[in-house]
Amino acid sequence: MTIYQPLPEQPNHSATDPGLLAAVAAGQIRLTVEQGFDLLTNAPLHTLGRYADARCRDIHGDHLRSYIIDRNINYTNICTAKCIFCAFKRAGHEDDAYTLEYEELYQKVQELSDIGGTQILMQGGMNPNLSLDWYLELLNGIRERFPHVNIHAFSPPELIEFVNFFKPPGKTLIDKVRWVLIKLQDAGMHSLPGGGGEIFAAPVRTKIGMGKCDMDAWLQVMYAAHSLGMFTSASMMYGHIEGHADRIHHMHMVRHWQDKAIQDFGSGNSDALAFDPTSKSQEPGGHYLGFHSWPFQPDHTALGRLPHYPTKKDLEQGLPFPGDTVAKLDGSGTKDDDKNFGRRLRLAGATEYLRTQAVSRLMLDNIYTIGSSWVTMGPHIGQTALYYGANDMGSVMMEENVVSSAGTTYCLDEPVLCNLIRTAGFTPAQRDSKYDIIRTHTNANSPDLLVTDWSEHRTKRLHIQSAEESAEPPSEQLGTAQLTVGASD
Ligand code: SF4
Repeated sequence: MTIYQPLPEQPNHSATDPGLLAAVAAGQIRLTVEQGFDLLTNAPLHTLGRYADARCRDIHGDHLRSYIIDRNINYTNICTAKCIFCAFKRAGHEDDAYTLEYEELYQKVQELSDIGGTQILMQGGMNPNLSLDWYLELLNGIRERFPHVNIHAFSPPELIEFVNFFKPPGKTLIDKVRWVLIKLQDAGMHSLPGGGGEIFAAPVRTKIGMGKCDMDAWLQVMYAAHSLGMFTSASMMYGHIEGHADRIHHMHMVRHWQDKAIQDFGSGNSDALAFDPTSKSQEPGGHYLGFHSWPFQPDHTALGRLPHYPTKKDLEQGLPFPGDTVAKLDGSGTKDDDKNFGRRLRLAGATEYLRTQAVSRLMLDNIYTIGSSWVTMGPHIGQTALYYGANDMGSVMMEENVVSSAGTTYCLDEPVLCNLIRTAGFTPAQRDSKYDIIRTHTNANSPDLLVTDWSEHRTKRLHIQSAEESAEPPSEQLGTAQLTVGASD
């Protein structure tokens, strides 16, 4: 029996050594955290793109790039946490605080099913008014009505609050999470999205995500899910108060726990397994299937009101960005290292997004999918991201409430999405929740090739700033032209 071993590192090589990068792109060498940091902060953008693209092609080939049709359902906006980057949550007393009724939720899944969707991404605020039975009845109801729809639901912070709310038995946190997950799994939940990852490093996480679980809890929830054979994803939201080292530390933690999941559960039921986490030809146990990262969207958030770095005073005094002073590659930084920590905002634009995504593809050598986040960056940057390590354009969604509450999101229909993939030089392919290809769009019946009037399918910017504005059109108007396409985590 062959046991999975992480790739070897070559710490003595410069991060920009072409030989090292070629070996990384070929899946032979693992980047050290120092090399990853050096790449993120110093390498030319085109170098990052070149090698991230080569790595992506090594795993996914030169032809297909995928997307999924799913629906993002936010079942409640009532939440006990106080994340300062969030414009979605409500305490519960506000006029627009909501928890959807079962019938409303079933109707949403029905509308997804009607247009050929295969997955719901169901997440919500951490609502203390909902019982475990409420969730179990909901999951059972969806499964009975829509057995063909994958239920991708509940982020790690929600699971931690389920533990706090439902008081399950168990000695350790993992025991308790497993107890809840088994109940949810038995009721129909299939997989766990990677929401609430933000930035793992404690100084950042404590500052921006009050009331939300810490890194250890987040990773242990995922480990518990992997132990039950679930596939999950990981996420990172950056471009706020964090330093560059925090992003690399975050990726390193995901990579480390992916190694652990593969080593502990990866052999599944196979007799012998030379586990290749970048291959879909095997049926391993639970682990992370994808990594999705996106820049913070500042509108309507407390975090977004921080002064932008550099301020006039920062320039006059030659002050570094506080997040970089505090951040450490091993996650050991403390907020006391800079009195301005958490008081300056450094947003990430298009090139920073592409750099970070490319480095994630190169760092995360044990993760199959890197998702483009065009829902925040726009369709054409999202399309460009296919040359910076992304193999997947995310999901055809019918609604999105959380990111869009914090600013602009972009709305594309399936033909436009396919057109973006095709005009980038690839063949669009619809995938399922496990990244298996369902349909490859090579012939004249492809969604984009059926379009005869592109003026009907222009990219629309979607501003959803309140629950009222986000109300969907009547169901009879729903169709593929009204689907929104975004990042699925
Ligand atoms: S980001 Fe999620 S956990 Fe944080 S306040 Fe918003 S809904 Fe709650």
